[in-house]
Amino acid sequence: MDGCIFCKIIKGEIPCQKIYEDDKALAFLDISPVNKGHALVVPKKHSMDLLEADDKELSAIISACKKVANACMKGLKADGISLDVSTKPAAGQVVMHTHFHIIPRWKDDGLKHWPRKSLLAEEMKKVQEAIKNSL
Ligand code: 5GP
Ligand code: ZN
Repeated sequence: MDGCIFCKIIKGEIPCQKIYEDDKALAFLDISPVNKGHALVVPKKHSMDLLEADDKELSAIISACKKVANACMKGLKADGISLDVSTKPAAGQVVMHTHFHIIPRWKDDGLKHWPRKSLLAEEMKKVQEAIKNSL
């Protein structure tokens, strides 16, 4: 897609530090890593985000994520992996081409989990119904 930075990376028009590639997916290092080995896994076929991506493309992406995650565990001796998919600008998505963040984690890496909220039981029930009824 014209103007999409990840499509340009996929086409080789912009360089990247490639980690893994197959017919559907490409994985490369994030230019501004959250942690050592932070990688992005993207479908070669352009879609704006997770919700718009084709299910077959997503299956391939998940397989690629697992391969890259295992390689980070082995190659970087990571203690764990955080997988993040920001979807839509409200969730922090900046690049509008579907991508999964693979973030290697170490016990003492200092990264914090999100703060939690507390909802009343009545609110929790409403939320549960709202989601269930929209499936
Ligand atoms: P988002 O915030 O959309 O979930 O994540 C976009 C990610 O793409 C960011 O972590 C950012 O550092 C990364 N990024 C943006 N432009 C480039 C680029 O040209 N090359 C690489 N390797 N990563 C990029
Ligand atoms: Zn694209």
